[in-house]
Amino acid sequence: VEKVTELEVAREYVNQVYETVKQRNSHETEFLQAVKEVFDSLVPVLAKNPIYIKEAILERIVEPERLISFRVPWVDDQGNVKVNRGYRVQFNSAIGPYKGGLRFHPSVNASIIKFLGFEQIFKNSLTGQPIGGGKGGSDFDPKGKSDAEIMRFTQSFMTELSNYIGPDKDVPAGDIGVGAKEIGYMFGQYKRLRGAYEAGVLTGKGVGYGGSLARKEATGYGTVYFVDEMLKDQDLSLNGSTVVVSGSGNVSIYAMEKAMELGAKVVACSDSGGYVYDKNGIDLDSVKRLKEVEKKRISEYVKDHPGALYFEGCSGIWSIPCDVALPCATQNEIDEMAAKVLVSNGVKAVGEGANMPSTLEAIDVFLDNKVLFGPAKAANAGGVAVSALEMAQNSARLSWTFEEVDNKLKVIMKNIYRDSVAAAEECEMPGNLVVGANAAGFIKVADAMITQGVI
Ligand code: GLU
Repeated sequence: VEKVTELEVAREYVNQVYETVKQRNSHETEFLQAVKEVFDSLVPVLAKNPIYIKEAILERIVEPERLISFRVPWVDDQGNVKVNRGYRVQFNSAIGPYKGGLRFHPSVNASIIKFLGFEQIFKNSLTGQPIGGGKGGSDFDPKGKSDAEIMRFTQSFMTELSNYIGPDKDVPAGDIGVGAKEIGYMFGQYKRLRGAYEAGVLTGKGVGYGGSLARKEATGYGTVYFVDEMLKDQDLSLNGSTVVVSGSGNVSIYAMEKAMELGAKVVACSDSGGYVYDKNGIDLDSVKRLKEVEKKRISEYVKDHPGALYFEGCSGIWSIPCDVALPCATQNEIDEMAAKVLVSNGVKAVGEGANMPSTLEAIDVFLDNKVLFGPAKAANAGGVAVSALEMAQNSARLSWTFEEVDNKLKVIMKNIYRDSVAAAEECEMPGNLVVGANAAGFIKVADAMITQGVI
């Protein structure tokens, strides 16, 4: 009887805080979605630890320490002055300097940046590395821009951002639309502004100037390592399985690479225009050439692969029958309908390589149907985990080999899986890794906040 009461009190508290968050951020749908998922998961944690309620941890953790928004003026190749909006959310620094990527995409707004930053708090905590949560970006669209335009934009972006970041303060990296090239330009500009070589201010740098080996591969590899753990626990294996991977960017490419290495057949991938289905298995070298070198659309793939088919639009990719689905493109790419189709086609595991690729309704479909579900903040934490390893190498002024970093990544992904499983059991929701990942990530941050006083 007592237990039900504690759960009720916790549920009541969660609902009440959520209502306030909703009122205060009424138009921020992505942010509210991320908050709802985390808050709902925390009911059993709060029931067991009323100290978190007394200390108003939810009210505090859901409000960013600060949200910076700034003007980014730049000049295009025709000499026209353009203006974009830049953001950096410094969400939580309880366990380390703010850490999280920068996204350049026309859809970027405060809601997107805040959902990403909020997720990052728990993801970063789960890695076991000393990093707080942050995120940033701009509504700048790199598509169709020349190298010179991208350089001028990123330099202007960094000129303002440099006021707020530093190796012990806030350490950005890449995300959608920000890769090695943009990080390079931003690092160069930061260095000029500081007049000092602060290698640890950005991660995802080129390996020739302070970047870490295996950082590029880390998110995609990590997602597959995580899925591999989920499968092995049920005596299943990637070997011989059929896999669908959405996206064809950095996360997707290296998820495909590792899945293939472990014996899977990857039959589809996509970009924002549509998807390719190659029943013989995707030719990864072609995808790499198209996307990393030639910067072309994925539709070009079918030109030299006569057995492959191209379909316009993105959501259809989830109607391809597969054992394992790896959404590695963007938020809300799997809705309830797509989830139901995946389930009816017999999907066994879903590993989220992108941030929040499944809607709340889609997650419920997976969990209700006992699909092994690796939520983003656990399954895609490998990228930021290796970013933390890059920071460690920069501080120590040394560099580890690919194998050293990859082995550390494997151990980190294993630990994230194990900790999430244990936390789910502790919450009496065995097998629910959404609850497990949220609970495990939250507890460490909440305890640090309490220990550090009202911050
Ligand atoms: N953008 C990546 C993420 O969503 C990586 C962030 C980082 O390395 O700081 O976690």
